[in-house]
Amino acid sequence: MNCEFCEGTTITRKVRKVHWFAHQLTIVDGVEAEVCQGCGERYYHATTLNAIDRMLQTGRQVVKEELRVQVVGMPA
Ligand SMILES: [Zn+2]
Repeated sequence: MNCEFCEGTTITRKVRKVHWFAHQLTIVDGVEAEVCQGCGERYYHATTLNAIDRMLQTGRQVVKEELRVQVVGMPA
């Protein structure tokens, strides 16, 4: 497909996605995405996003690692 922002060509790749589900942030490895070769924008199929939601909903995902995440604000 072509990128909506820069008209660049996308390729199918497995990426690490920051995913929100039920007010919880999870980093999911191996998510299939269309990645723009020009600007790096990622596009996910709705079926892929639904599959992630279903996995997290059932709680059957394998936890590979736990990370601490900082929330910071931009300087005024
Ligand atoms: Zn692009």
